[in-house]
Amino acid sequence: MSEYKNFETIAIRTQSKRTDNREHSTPLYLTSSYIFNDAEQARALFAEEEQGNIYSRFDNPNADEFIKKMTLLEGTEAGFATASGMAAVFSSLAPFLKTGDHIVSSRSVFGNTHKVISEILPDWGVKSTFTNLTDHKDWENAIRPNTKVLFLETPSNPTLDIIEIEWLAELANKHNALLVVDNCFATPYLQQPAKLGAHIVIHSATKYIDGQGRVLGGIILGSNENIKKVKTFAKRTGPAISPFNAWVLSKSLETLAVRVDRQCENAERLAKHLNSHEEIASVKYPFLKSHPQHEIAKKQMKKGGGLLCFEVKGGVERGRKFLDALQMLSLTANLGDTRTIATHPASTTHAKVPEAERQLAGITGGMIRISAGLEHYDDILEDIEQALAKSK
Ligand SMILES: *Cc1c(COP(=O)(O)O)cnc(C)c1O
Repeated sequence: MSEYKNFETIAIRTQSKRTDNREHSTPLYLTSSYIFNDAEQARALFAEEEQGNIYSRFDNPNADEFIKKMTLLEGTEAGFATASGMAAVFSSLAPFLKTGDHIVSSRSVFGNTHKVISEILPDWGVKSTFTNLTDHKDWENAIRPNTKVLFLETPSNPTLDIIEIEWLAELANKHNALLVVDNCFATPYLQQPAKLGAHIVIHSATKYIDGQGRVLGGIILGSNENIKKVKTFAKRTGPAISPFNAWVLSKSLETLAVRVDRQCENAERLAKHLNSHEEIASVKYPFLKSHPQHEIAKKQMKKGGGLLCFEVKGGVERGRKFLDALQMLSLTANLGDTRTIATHPASTTHAKVPEAERQLAGITGGMIRISAGLEHYDDILEDIEQALAKSK
């Protein structure tokens, strides 16, 4: 529990203990290991009878501060911070799966996550089934007696589809499986899956949490019992975050709410504008009434998020021309940045997903994904308008 009630205050005022220097901002602890007072304390720390820092692959004050804030913001008991979002994906699955087990995953997941579940896990004898994120029957039919994990992103990447987390949590509980939610797109500011019943919540902190395109990082959050398993796995295999990246990310959380508020505002204005634009075939944004899961989005998310996707008229050719005509928007694979970013998922982030799977996931050739940044709305709009005109 935090002594503060509100998201913004928790994100700013949760700090590790000050040292004798009475620093206002938390210092960076660049140390690989920690000194024991005596042989007895060393024994007690290793035996986990006493809590404390031993070695930065296990614990570090900067990582601890970042984790502490995230557990409070997501409403979980414990957490472990990792070097990247993919390290969080893998370390949230590996401790809970063994040869002979089965995992059910939404097919609308991050490209590399899809590869971990469809290729790496099966190589080690863990079978996988992919479902249509929004289709309840598909989830129910995919479950087998040996299903141990259900995995998803909502809103999904890049199609921004949405499923009711509470419904899936109930399904997972009925079958004694863990529900793992990648909450990267929503951030804890807009949606807290653990409060809706998810057992494990993960993030690529590289995206909205850093939000300034500087560092990679990830986090796994859940109950003391589940995170204990993750920590044991992580101590042995070494995906821990560096103190520097944890320091950056903990600082970044202080501005998450104001950044995401502005990103949501820019994204929603843009979605509404493009929705009635004659050069655009369709727009998808969770808080547009035309979104197929609009009602669920309203129920489980505070705002519609900083991402939208749309289909330009003219298909793949026009889509590529449009991207090449952009002057200000960045063409890069990142998202959640201060800078507005345009991506063509079919030829970049999801290029390695087989064509048939891509189509099932709704990733069309002409789809453009926009991650709204913090520039002035008029400048974002102007660049998109001129690129639409120029690519005709
Ligand atoms: C980027 C991303 C990841 C992977 O995170 P990295 O920090 O790049 O390793 C996982 N899930 C989602 C939804 C992402 O957008």
